Amino acid sequence: MTIIDGKKIKEQVLEELKEEVSKLDIKPTLVVIQAGNDDASNVYIRQKEKMANYIGYNYRHIKLAEEINTDELLKIINKLNEDDSVNGILVQMPLPKHIDIDTIQNAVLPEKDVDGLTDVNAGLLFHNKKALFSCTPYGIMELFKRYNICVEGLHAVVIGRSNLVGKPMSMMLTNAGATVTLCHSKTKNLEKYTKDADILISCVGKAKFIDDTMVKDDSIIIDVGINRDNNLKLCGDVDYDKVISKVKYITPVPGGVGPMTVAMLGYNVLLAYKMQRGINNVI
Ligand code: NAP
Repeated sequence: MTIIDGKKIKEQVLEELKEEVSKLDIKPTLVVIQAGNDDASNVYIRQKEKMANYIGYNYRHIKLAEEINTDELLKIINKLNEDDSVNGILVQMPLPKHIDIDTIQNAVLPEKDVDGLTDVNAGLLFHNKKALFSCTPYGIMELFKRYNICVEGLHAVVIGRSNLVGKPMSMMLTNAGATVTLCHSKTKNLEKYTKDADILISCVGKAKFIDDTMVKDDSIIIDVGINRDNNLKLCGDVDYDKVISKVKYITPVPGGVGPMTVAMLGYNVLLAYKMQRGINNVI
């Protein structure tokens, strides 16, 4: 059994990006826009800033009042879209409830959409074309790559169909040659699918949702969930202690998928910079 070390792989990815960026005369620029003062967002933004500083990107954090409206936010995004010195734009979620999220997400130019959430980038993923992809599922594909896990021909079961994680995950696995089953809250007899999974990816957000009776022997378990257990301890969707003895690979929470999300944001910033300049290779 192998515990997949997302922290270690993140460090490798950041090191490689830092090395590449050190050779660039003009450094890529990432701008993070925040509306309001959500506690979790503040933590995530600090992680993004740390990553950007480590790699050597230019970094700007635009922090706006909770009361800002959709039109005012659109104006700020449009200005950044037109600014050639800005390579990546990320609008931190959640936005205040009165903001039209779909309009805001799609206002970011697809070539600067380092979160990979615009309809255009989601469509390019659907068509298996090069684009900026959603960071969490992209990070999971990077874990497979770096652990030499070939997904081709395997049965991958993804639980969760959000635009952020589950759906793009299912599409990336499909593009990589896996046979994919996408489950969600309306799926009947979920265990029937999970027990048949060579790769089980849980993106649900419920503590200890997956136990040992639901997984196949020697399978690969990827836990995307970030939850708190009864003792308020951070945990994933998978009952890790029960499942661990049965499986071939597993990601822990914390230290599995989470670190890869910020690593792939770093990757996307350099990819955006290069695509904007017509440069093809990125690590
Ligand atoms: P989400 O939008 O709430 O989606 C949750 C999905 O789980 C939905 O598709 C839902 O189905 C499905 N679901 C809920 N209850 C279920 C059940 N009983 N059986 C089967 N499916 C069920 O959440 P998300 O944004 O995708 O995030 C999922 C989890 O990943 C959260 O814990 C989040 O914090 C975590 N996350 C982690 C990272 C990271 O970097 N590690 C990044 C993003 C998210 P329906 O569509 O039918 O409602």
